[in-house]
Amino acid sequence: MISIFFSVILTSIISLFFGFGLSNIIGFWNAFSIAFGSQVIIALVYKSFRIDADKKDNAAVEEQFNEILSLCSASFECPCTRYTFTEELFINADNEFKCPVCGSNVKVNINISPILQTDVLADNIQTSLESVTTEAEATA
Ligand SMILES: [Zn+2]
Repeated sequence: MISIFFSVILTSIISLFFGFGLSNIIGFWNAFSIAFGSQVIIALVYKSFRIDADKKDNAAVEEQFNEILSLCSASFECPCTRYTFTEELFINADNEFKCPVCGSNVKVNINISPILQTDVLADNIQTSLESVTTEAEATA
């Protein structure tokens, strides 16, 4: 409310300057009205562009959010074996779900098992194997 009041005061002050500046050419109130009206129009156009930009930003954020959610989703079977859940699972959350078939609460544990990975030294194993076999054939 204060910002609207402040905007009206500021717009009026700028319009007053235009009014005084152009009072000898087109008259004070004509210049004041034109300046006031054009400021309102510019503000409306600017605001509509801002709303469009915000909508685009929100859509991008929502898309990223859904992407992250899809990375967390998993399918698992209820212990009653009559229903398969497809839910988002989070490591630091309770991950409790209610089975719609048997009505029991199901808690999902996430087991983290780190696996040491080796670096691939030779990525041309296929070709080196071929050279070995052709060498073996040549000597035979
Ligand atoms: Zn169930």
